[in-house]
Amino acid sequence: TVPGPDSKQPRRIALANQKGGVGKTTTAINLATALASKKRVLVIDLDPQGNASTGLGLPRAERGAGTYALLLGERPLAELMQKTPVPNLFLLAADNDLAGAEVELVGMDDREHRLKRALDAGAEVLAGFDFILVDCPPSLGLLTLNALVAVQSVMIPLQTEFFALEGVSQITRTIERVKRALNPGLGLDGIVLTMFDRRNNLSELVANDVRAFFRDKVYDTVIPRNIRVSEAPSHGLPVLLYDMKSTGAQAYIQLAAELLRRERAANRFAGARA
Ligand code: ADP
Ligand code: MG
Repeated sequence: TVPGPDSKQPRRIALANQKGGVGKTTTAINLATALASKKRVLVIDLDPQGNASTGLGLPRAERGAGTYALLLGERPLAELMQKTPVPNLFLLAADNDLAGAEVELVGMDDREHRLKRALDAGAEVLAGFDFILVDCPPSLGLLTLNALVAVQSVMIPLQTEFFALEGVSQITRTIERVKRALNPGLGLDGIVLTMFDRRNNLSELVANDVRAFFRDKVYDTVIPRNIRVSEAPSHGLPVLLYDMKSTGAQAYIQLAAELLRRERAANRFAGARA
């Protein structure tokens, strides 16, 4: 049976920033884990490096088919989703062929729409989910474009360092362009400040700068730099399972709560306008 137009579909959010090492993957894994305590969540690993897959307990050798097979239409979503160590959290892993996808997609029909089509086609299995988080590679190529076409909103992790705002216009301009040409419903969900160092005055200054520029688009929750966050992936665990009491884990719990609050507020607003 095909689900009717009223069947509830998960909210799709991409974690994107063309800069590497800013906390996209860490945020995808840990925000998803925190959300999964109340909601059903799917993480899609769209980065050929596969760090989200490794960090959720699926090392390269054990992955099998995943995002690549989905993008190429080789297998349906239902056959490709895998369990993770976190209840209610599922993963579409980065298969070993994903590195080739950026080039292979170029010659394909609908090259920017392949992820969207595949997720739309998976509506039946996705009907039980509340969120899909797509972890993007550190570039603005076709893989990231597929994510931006497939989602409703983008979350941009920004590392709290001196050049934080440098380069952020690249991703915001790309979002605007995709919105105009390919996905009119796309929005900027928000900006998350990551790797904040409380002992460093610069972190505070940078955070203030980013807030002055992006205003309420910036999440109140700030993710601190925390060694436990960086240790967790080598154990194949989100930091929430590795060390629940750590400042990093607690921050991601707060971020999830803030995201849910913002979603509720946005829905109320939409309801009031309708
Ligand atoms: P991206 O996906 O944007 O390339 P990652 O999430 O992989 O970035 O983070 C880059 C590196 O920084 C990783 O080694 C990760 O473990 C580390 N890292 C991310 N967030 C934190 C944090 N809050 N505290 C300490 N280390 C972090
Ligand atoms: Mg990454």
